[in-house]
Formats: sequence, structure tokens, C-alpha cells
Amino acid sequence: MVPNSKPILIIGGGIGGITAAAELAELGYNVVIVEKEASLGGRVLRMHRYFPKMCPPSCGFEINTRRIRQNPRITVHTLASVEGISGEAGNFRAKVTLKPTHVTGRFSVDDSMAERLTSERDDDFNYDMSTSKALYLPHDMAYPHAYVLDREALSDTDSQVLTEACPPGSVDLTSASREIEIEAGAIIVATGWRPYDATKLDTLGFGQHLNVITNVMMERMAALGGPTGGEITRPSDGKKAENVAFVQCAGSRDENHLPYCSAVCCMASLKQARYVREKNENSKATVFYIDIRTIGRLENFYSEMLDDTNLSFVKGKVARINEEPESRNLILEVEDTLAGENLNPQFDLVVLATGMVPNTADVKIPMDMQYDEYGFIDGSTDVDGVYAAGCSRSPCDVSRTTKSATAAALKAIQCLHRAG
Ligand code: SF4
Repeated sequence: MVPNSKPILIIGGGIGGITAAAELAELGYNVVIVEKEASLGGRVLRMHRYFPKMCPPSCGFEINTRRIRQNPRITVHTLASVEGISGEAGNFRAKVTLKPTHVTGRFSVDDSMAERLTSERDDDFNYDMSTSKALYLPHDMAYPHAYVLDREALSDTDSQVLTEACPPGSVDLTSASREIEIEAGAIIVATGWRPYDATKLDTLGFGQHLNVITNVMMERMAALGGPTGGEITRPSDGKKAENVAFVQCAGSRDENHLPYCSAVCCMASLKQARYVREKNENSKATVFYIDIRTIGRLENFYSEMLDDTNLSFVKGKVARINEEPESRNLILEVEDTLAGENLNPQFDLVVLATGMVPNTADVKIPMDMQYDEYGFIDGSTDVDGVYAAGCSRSPCDVSRTTKSATAAALKAIQCLHRAG
């Protein structure tokens, strides 16, 4: 019995949104997912593996997309953004803008057509470490599994090439954004996070020294489908990285950047140090940290890694990263606070453990909602009928995100029943 048959609107199609949608639909509730990117999966799908089991996200994602594909109660809008919300619990109306994919879906489009283009775009799935053709499939596991045309990246010459390469009617270069209205009984906000902008950390060299990368870039590098085919290499010369530094709290727990702890980046660096060690038995990794924060069962993972003699831990905040011009190696300035020594170790690749910024710090939900000073939705002041999940409330890992999404789904169900 569903007293209020209006669907539940889920803003965000990452792991939180997907989880809430599948749980709700399997209980008999109608769901509409609005996702700003061209396919579902968000940040988690960009990871190589996630802890604690170190499994690739593709396994869980495949199961979830099957749950979504097979359930007629779920509607998915991608390249979509919510521009306005009115109404109240049980009776919301959301204005949603749908950007065009320029691919009609009436005839099949494939890579052979995309390959004829010279126009390229930065591949944001790979954190811009590679490019794709202007006509592209977002990634191998994309759901919807549909090509998208980046109209702005397409040159005039390629517009003509595309028209000739694709079956007539398969691509529409003139289609424009359109607006739809969605009625909803309740709303779940699962808008997720973005990495902190490492170019703001001017002493740490990101954007100045090619061999300084961020933790999210490392995930794509380690992934088989990533820009380096799974090899951990130096961007400056493509050589395999053999001596890698991980700089913890890069911008986090710092009043000038992110004053809070993102809770996941210690574990992320330990996991990535394991990637480095697994891919090359002679490789070395060093983690520079203030504290290592591995909560609950994750502490075991940390303890196991302490046994690896090619993995070192130095307690000290890295003050500066300089580049040695010829080798393009990185020289760190750091004080080992346990030994009381100033160190200048050299590495061939440095990974900055940057923190999480809620997407709601940049783009607010278009209704009257409370946020904390960092842009996270203040869960203590939930608007009746609107429930925040995962990293829109606080930094959290995949496991906590799915639990939070399930809790938000339960609250949305209760709201529908209250509203009758
Ligand atoms: Fe720093 Fe670790 Fe907290 Fe990340 S999880 S902010 S690296 S202490």
C-alpha cells in the first residue's frame, strides 16, 4: 500500500543515489533520478578499487545497473539539473533542465564513427589526464550505455564529417536544452562531492610540477581502463614510478583551505600505496602524515601494511615540494616530528591526498535549506520531505554512503505515508 503514489525524486546518480533508487523501487515506490553527468556512477565508479575488500567498483555497479535497468519503477534523467523546487512534503514540483546529447538513439552510433573525427575533449572521467573524441561513450560501463556529442568541442569541419559518417537522423546538431517538470512526494539529495582544488595549494606544486598528482588521479592511473592502462607512471616522461610519496592532509585540517578532516584520504593513500607495491615488487612508497586515521575494521588494513619494509611512514606535514629541473624528480621539505629532523627526500612521483568538498558548496539545492559553513547540508535542520544522503551531509566512504542513502530512502517512505 503506497498512500501517496507520487515518485521520490533523487538528485544525484552516484553510489548514494543509485542505492536509494534501487531500494525504493524494489519496495514498490516510483523513483526519478536526476543526474548532472551523462551517465550514472559518480566518483566511486572512477576508482580502481575500494576498501575494505579492495574490490573494483565495477562489480557492484553492474549489479546496481541491472537492478535499475530491470525495474520499470525507476526513471533516469542524465545531463539533467534541478533548477527550481516548490511545494511541500508529499507534493513537490521540480523544474529540471535536460541538456541534449545530440545523439537521437534512433540509429546506432559507434566508435568507428567517432574515430573519423579530429575534434577532441578533455576526458573528465579520467580527471582530464586523457582526451576522447567529441562523440564519445562516457566510459565502458556507462549507464545509459549511449554515445554523447560534445557540441562545443566539435569543429565546423567535423560537423560535416559527422553528418557523413553517421546514419541520417542519428545525430542532431541543433537540439537544445529543454525543461521538464517532475512531481515528487519526497526528495533525496545525494549530490556527492568533488576533490579539493589542488592548484590552491601553491607550495605543493600541483599544476606546476607534472609529477605531482592527486589521489583521484592515482585511482584512474591504477585502473586498467584508465589513461595509462593501469600502469603507475610519471606524467613528465611516461616512465614507471618506482619511488612514490603520499602527502596526507593536502589542504585538509588547514584553516586556509579545508579546516575539517575528510575521513577517507588516509585509507585512500594506504590503498594506493598498496597499488604501487603490488604493481612493482621493487617499488617504494612513503606516507607523510599528521595522524593516520583508519577507523573501525580499517585499522587492520593499516596494521598489515606496517609489515611491508618497502613502505615507510614519516610523521610530518610537508611544507613545500620543489622540482629538480633535469630529472623532474620532486624534493620535499618536511620535518620528521618524531625524529626531530628536517628532511629533503626525493621521489619520482608525489600523490597529494586532497580532501572532499560537497558539491553543495558550489551549487545549492534550489530551495530553502540549511548548510554548514563548508557547504554540507545541515542534517539537523532537514526540511520536511527532503533528506540528504552521503557526502552531501558529511565526508564519508562508500560503505557509509550506502547506509546513509538507505536511511534517507526510509525517511522518504515515511514521508509519503505521512502525507497520505
Ligand atoms: Fe588528513 Fe587522513 Fe583526515 Fe584525510 S583522512 S584529512 S589525510 S587525517
